[in-house]
Amino acid sequence: MADGTCVCKTCIKSDKKIKTKALKTEKKNNAVETILIFGDMHIPYHRDGSIEFLRAIKDKYNPTKVICTGDELDNHAMSFHETDPNCLSAGDELEEAIKYMKQLYEIFPEVDLVDSNHGSMVFRKAKFGGIPLKYIRSMREIIEAPAGWSWHKDYTYTMSNGQDLFVTHGLKKKSRQLAEQYGCCVVQGHYHEDSCIQYSSSPRQLIWGCSAGCLIDDESLAMEYNKSNLKRPILSCVLIRNGIPKIIPMVIKDHKWIGIV
Ligand SMILES: [Zn+2]
Repeated sequence: MADGTCVCKTCIKSDKKIKTKALKTEKKNNAVETILIFGDMHIPYHRDGSIEFLRAIKDKYNPTKVICTGDELDNHAMSFHETDPNCLSAGDELEEAIKYMKQLYEIFPEVDLVDSNHGSMVFRKAKFGGIPLKYIRSMREIIEAPAGWSWHKDYTYTMSNGQDLFVTHGLKKKSRQLAEQYGCCVVQGHYHEDSCIQYSSSPRQLIWGCSAGCLIDDESLAMEYNKSNLKRPILSCVLIRNGIPKIIPMVIKDHKWIGIV
């Protein structure tokens, strides 16, 4: 051809290959950063279907990062508060919890978690009982978690849009006020009946605070203490795509998750 482009079959084929590869690289470079944040499962007293719910979110949105707001375990039998004698013993509860945790490890081999009142119960009990931490095994070892699971006091992550995201178990009921105090975007758990996103604007920046809800089994005996609270737990988690948060509710009908995310 006049412009020097060869139109023979071999050259067209190789040109197509180069273009497809370039398109794939471009797509990869423009990949949407998708952060999944869930928490307050209180395993083994988590909501039936919640692990499948998280698996469906992974399949649909393919998160590039996964963070847990804590209370991954309930540790009801080790609680500082009154416990129900009809619930599992502390040892049996841990064994039962590990069974479910293993399902989560398979879905999410890498998770950053923050310390929490229920999740960190063993360390709180050790402190209360005067036992130095050196005597206690790591959380990863106790619940047989893979190397990709890491626990932090709180967790700060810089999102793809350049904004900082602060993740904590629960510091302030109103998540917008927490975001304003920290001067960055915030996600927290702990307040089971709160599932919301609240934006705050200043002349300098637009930030948001988010409460992630929970994935507990409201009907389990371990949650009996909350029965007199008029506000009921909200089953949900959070997805942040290129810095924009969205709540994903776990919708229940006839006591079952409807199976749609
Ligand atoms: Zn909780």
